[in-house]
Amino acid sequence: MERTLILIKPDSVQRGLCGEIIGRFEKKGLKIVGMKMMKLREAVLREHYAHVAGEPFFLELSKFMSSSPVVAIVIEGPGAVKITRKIAGTSPDELGSIRGDLSISSQRNVVHSSDSIETANREIRRFFADDELFEYDKDEWRHVFSESEMKK
Ligand code: ADP
Repeated sequence: MERTLILIKPDSVQRGLCGEIIGRFEKKGLKIVGMKMMKLREAVLREHYAHVAGEPFFLELSKFMSSSPVVAIVIEGPGAVKITRKIAGTSPDELGSIRGDLSISSQRNVVHSSDSIETANREIRRFFADDELFEYDKDEWRHVFSESEMKK
């Protein structure tokens, strides 16, 4: 079953938005299979944001991302990567998404979500050990997905 990574960023932790953000994924019917609060150290941030390391905002971004803990979450479901990224949003002007409804800054944009299946697998390994991820039946799924969708 497809899995993806969410980081609830320090601005959300400070603003008390964790419950609202987690609730959006829960209400959609996705399954949380891993969740923990953690402080991101410089080494992991350099790895996670390697693709923007050359950008003028990188130093400020690293400071922001380590300014207080984040909540890292692994979400599971058929097509989890795409739907999670849609729910999270990519820009503050995508109203209806988490970023669209809760943020206005291009840096303090409340949530990170993996952008592809390959990235998701890499990012999950970056933040979670195998024994921090859980397999369990979610009874509600009988009402959320068809039987064939649940086998995907
Ligand atoms: P996304 O998080 O939407 O996938 P990127 O991977 O391009 O975006 O950028 C990583 C993070 O860097 C963003 O989530 C945001 O916090 C920060 N960032 C991106 N662009 C800017 C910018 N122009 N100024 C400040 N911070 C930025």
